[in-house]
Amino acid sequence: MKTTHIEHIGIAVKSIDTSKSYYEEVLGMECYAVEEVPDQKVKTAFFKIGQTKIELLEATSEESTIAKFIEKRGEGIHHIAYAVDNVAECLKEAEAKGIQLIDKTPRKGADGLSIAFLHPKATGGVLTELCQPAEK
Ligand code: ZN
Repeated sequence: MKTTHIEHIGIAVKSIDTSKSYYEEVLGMECYAVEEVPDQKVKTAFFKIGQTKIELLEATSEESTIAKFIEKRGEGIHHIAYAVDNVAECLKEAEAKGIQLIDKTPRKGADGLSIAFLHPKATGGVLTELCQPAEK
């Protein structure tokens, strides 16, 4: 697998509106996109720092994995996303190496990415996302 950089860090928050000000006013970053991903029952807000993004994740339903995460562990880092060339191939490779997958095939994530998650049980407790920019 060829991972090129950390594409983004996902942070679970109770409220984007409340949490945003820390990134904007304290860290001096600019939110360039707020997007809802109905599939995952989340609202996301993106900030860019170099080639890496910070993705704030707010649950839009109690069924959302973000709502469950916050209930269990509180707000905080939810996942790390690595940029790769081809998510589908990386999934096959990870599975062949015995890594438990959450997504067997890539799906559409926020910010035009094709994404898939590896199971935190197989990655030392860190929910890992692989992502690939959409074809232009
Ligand atoms: Zn993500």
